[in-house]
Amino acid sequence: MSAVAKSKIKRPINSRINARQSEQPSQDVSRFAEAAAGLVEIGKSFYARGWVLGTSGNFSAVVSREPLRLAITSTGLDKGRLTPAQFLEIDNAANVVQGDGRPSAEALLHLAIARGVDAGAILHTHSVWSTVLSGSHASQRGIALEGFEMLKGLEGVRTHKHREWLPILENSQDMIDLGECVSKILRESPGIHGFLLKEHGLYTWGAGLQEAKRHVEILEFLMEVLVRSGAAQSA
Ligand SMILES: [Zn+2]
Repeated sequence: MSAVAKSKIKRPINSRINARQSEQPSQDVSRFAEAAAGLVEIGKSFYARGWVLGTSGNFSAVVSREPLRLAITSTGLDKGRLTPAQFLEIDNAANVVQGDGRPSAEALLHLAIARGVDAGAILHTHSVWSTVLSGSHASQRGIALEGFEMLKGLEGVRTHKHREWLPILENSQDMIDLGECVSKILRESPGIHGFLLKEHGLYTWGAGLQEAKRHVEILEFLMEVLVRSGAAQSA
């Protein structure tokens, strides 16, 4: 068969594929690609800081609000070597609607935060500082951060005199139960920028990726300051 004849046969098939592609919500597809690319860079940066070692931590970004869809890391990946192809798109119940792999068990917490505070991006780290402080302050159910200039990096904070409450939740492997605890703390503590899971790590969020990244950097900085200045011993 000549090349011309082949192309005549192929044309209707190609046009069907093109028609199908044009029906896809292209805005959501580009948002997913943009989110995955941004989260890859965040993974490299956080890994280099020692905040997501040993495949720990997980990251997500809202791709669509109605219906709720998140781009999220697959479970068990080295966060310093993520690729965009390793990201999954999940629905409101953590079912995978795009991509190969399994979402982290903590996907339910990301969904609870996306719904609870209308976050556009949610970042979870397992740093030494958050592990130490969330253990030493667990009996107080939270840590008060006050008087630090760096607090002004948190969205909406204008003065070092701001008192930021960082709640500590009991850790659990029951993600349905933990997701409900997260929703409850978000309802009861309006205006918080993050929370800790006891001897586990930090969750924070932002309207977009850059704001969420900034919140991780600010909160991790302040927790490191507290530990280095002896707050863990005096708690
Ligand atoms: Zn975790």
